Amino acid sequence: MGANEPGQPSTPGQILSSVNLETPTIALAVGAHPDDIEFGCGATLAKWAAAGCLVHHLVITDGSKGTWNPEADIAELIRMRREEQREAARRLGARGETIFLDRVDGELRSDDDLRRELTHWIRALRPDVVLGHDPWKRYRLHPDHREAGAAVCDAIVAARDPHFFRDDIVRTGSGHHRPRTLLLWEADEPDHGEDASSTLDIKIHALLAHKSQFESTMKAVSADELDRFARRIRERSTELGRRIGRPAAEIFKRISDL
Ligand SMILES: [Zn+2]
Repeated sequence: MGANEPGQPSTPGQILSSVNLETPTIALAVGAHPDDIEFGCGATLAKWAAAGCLVHHLVITDGSKGTWNPEADIAELIRMRREEQREAARRLGARGETIFLDRVDGELRSDDDLRRELTHWIRALRPDVVLGHDPWKRYRLHPDHREAGAAVCDAIVAARDPHFFRDDIVRTGSGHHRPRTLLLWEADEPDHGEDASSTLDIKIHALLAHKSQFESTMKAVSADELDRFARRIRERSTELGRRIGRPAAEIFKRISDL
């Protein structure tokens, strides 16, 4: 959710030399709200899932601000958004877990509790690749996207070291874990692209599972408006594709040597 469709930057830029990671065995995508993951990396996750990667979704907030209707039944909205997120993950072909941390939408803080919880999940799920919001994106208004991105980066540092949150290791028996690569979507300075040509349609199909967000995020209620939304996503991805010499792309800041 947010004032603009989150996910991929639309500004033209230089050609990216880093293209297509080797398909990870396990990937974990972490979004602030239901729908952020599909906007940010849906085509990449669908591509990896089709190639055998175990894809997990982790959504930090409950999505409870995601409506323009002041009379909305918030408990019902939260329930609906969970179900939409599960359906979107299914549409991507994700066979992993869909985890909800249920923080209050709009009030997210990258604090020790959140870092502990994310560290726990990184150690429990043991992803090769983690994907999340870029916390360093300039002029970003939505605080949850900043905070979610910062929390993921901090949790990776904690997860890889056996002395951070030692009690969690002792309690759960899962060892520390160092992912191989972190990919940040919405980056101001992207340096990596994933070919999205074969799975762009799946990304759009998964985005359209988030029906409760059609009005507030997709700005689309009628069939015509939904078509225009799909066209915008397609055009943006095609434009990004030029940066890696492919018909369509999702692009990221890539952090390796974690
Ligand atoms: Zn969001």
